[in-house]
Amino acid sequence: MIQEIGRAYDNHYVACEAAGADYVLHYRERGCLVHVTSHGGADAWAEGNAFDLPRVRDLAERPSRLVYAFAIGGARFFLALDDEVAAPAGFAYEAVNWLRYAEPAELLFAVVTGSQLDRWYRDNRFCSRCGHPTELGPRSREIVCPECASIVYPKICPGVICAVTRRDADGEKIVLTRYNGRTTALWALVAGFTEIGEPLEDTVRREVMEEVGLHVKNLRFYKSQPWSFTDTLLVGFWCEVDGDPTITVDHSELKEARWFGRDEIPLERTGDRVSLTGEMIEQFRLHGIPE
Ligand SMILES: [Zn+2]
Repeated sequence: MIQEIGRAYDNHYVACEAAGADYVLHYRERGCLVHVTSHGGADAWAEGNAFDLPRVRDLAERPSRLVYAFAIGGARFFLALDDEVAAPAGFAYEAVNWLRYAEPAELLFAVVTGSQLDRWYRDNRFCSRCGHPTELGPRSREIVCPECASIVYPKICPGVICAVTRRDADGEKIVLTRYNGRTTALWALVAGFTEIGEPLEDTVRREVMEEVGLHVKNLRFYKSQPWSFTDTLLVGFWCEVDGDPTITVDHSELKEARWFGRDEIPLERTGDRVSLTGEMIEQFRLHGIPE
């Protein structure tokens, strides 16, 4: 998964000045300023795509608004909040969505996580209570309004991924779904955002009922995954169907949904190295329902 980078991620905020060797993250229209160093295949899970990020010393002109973001394995990353920076030779804006299939892992994680922070800073330039221009908090990661003292912290929206399973005489089964209206939609698990006032367990029960019309029981937490593309923290659960296993598909959201045995699982996710959904489907295909 994207966050599994094998090096320490340290997001403790410290007010500090950027040095020449520090990395710069600059985003424009959902792209990040990178130097693509090699192109792999065009397939969804193609290997061989690689990129590098600019360092402060690579920029002809130092950005005027460099804000410390985080460190990974001792390397420091700064967000350039300027609208424009002068791109060094060889660097261009690549879609963050494309970069999620590129290496190295720690720079990919930095780009994806930095994109969420960048969006948060840019979306809060003005106070949403009084409209006054905001300022950055001096000692912690917060945005403050000097006029009405409102404080804003980074936004994280929880959502769930639900592996709905059952055990039959002929083996184990899992529900896979496919979204409507996306030409490249892969088979996925039931998923959705947590509503205000709702515990995660109720999100699982509600989403499974809404999307495929099933009751579930024996919810078990599996793993979680930051999914910065949508400001989300995804929480993965395994659960069992409770009662009638007949699926009723919500066609306003899904194109199709059905039960799959382990040997029927489509292999389109087998190369998915980035997502919790992919890991859970692959876990079921290879090892079955976890104990
Ligand atoms: Zn205000």
